[in-house]
Amino acid sequence: MPASALSAAIFFPGMLNPSRLKGIHTAIKSGMLAAETLFEAHKKNDFSPSSLAEYQKRYDASWIHAELYKSRNFHAGFEGGLLSGLINSSLQILTGGRGFFNRRPHKADHEMMLRRDEYLAKYGREPGVKTVKLDNRYTFDKVTDVYKSGTKHEEHQPSHLVIADYDICNRRCTEEYGNPCQYFCPADVYNMVDDESGSGKKKLQLTPSNCVHCKTCDIKDPSQNIHWVVPEGGGGPSYPNM
Ligand code: SF4
Repeated sequence: MPASALSAAIFFPGMLNPSRLKGIHTAIKSGMLAAETLFEAHKKNDFSPSSLAEYQKRYDASWIHAELYKSRNFHAGFEGGLLSGLINSSLQILTGGRGFFNRRPHKADHEMMLRRDEYLAKYGREPGVKTVKLDNRYTFDKVTDVYKSGTKHEEHQPSHLVIADYDICNRRCTEEYGNPCQYFCPADVYNMVDDESGSGKKKLQLTPSNCVHCKTCDIKDPSQNIHWVVPEGGGGPSYPNM
């Protein structure tokens, strides 16, 4: 495991226990395991992937794994609605999280993204076509939501959203997936804008200062081309009533 991935483990949103709607205790423990692993690596001056892979072993042996393993199918159990979800989650309690239907597939989240043609066949419309009407009372456009989240970042810093290869975004992802980052990002960070070269094509434009740190893009991007790193200066959303 590269050191950057190890440090990201501290903030890994997969630490949420969905059945308890809690994740801070697991995130803290994950951070402690990451710190122990780095401490040992530092003592040996060995930051190789095999040395840092100790984190995974520590995680597997910890109570975090035992706790989260039991809730691994919790969300999937609600795919059929509230009633089937309640029945399935009760079964999961009796079966150590196994349940009997709607088990979570052994796939990463980004591998479950639908391609444009699959999306069209399933929903009868292109990705991104808006079907929800905002009432500006309880539901707002994304930029208003960002304003209400109190998000602030130190402006003079490198982007904390690192795009490995813009060509993948501007060509391959456009054709295959219709640039879903524009739609799953809740903060309007990703926009496809006209390429000023006059080619008539679109290119990806980022507004990282809008980011509310949900990390969806890092998890869901089908090409795994977006890397979320911790921004400088302790910035981010401020949810005073949470
Ligand atoms: S983490 Fe990614 S998806 Fe979430 S708000 Fe920031 S840029 Fe958007």
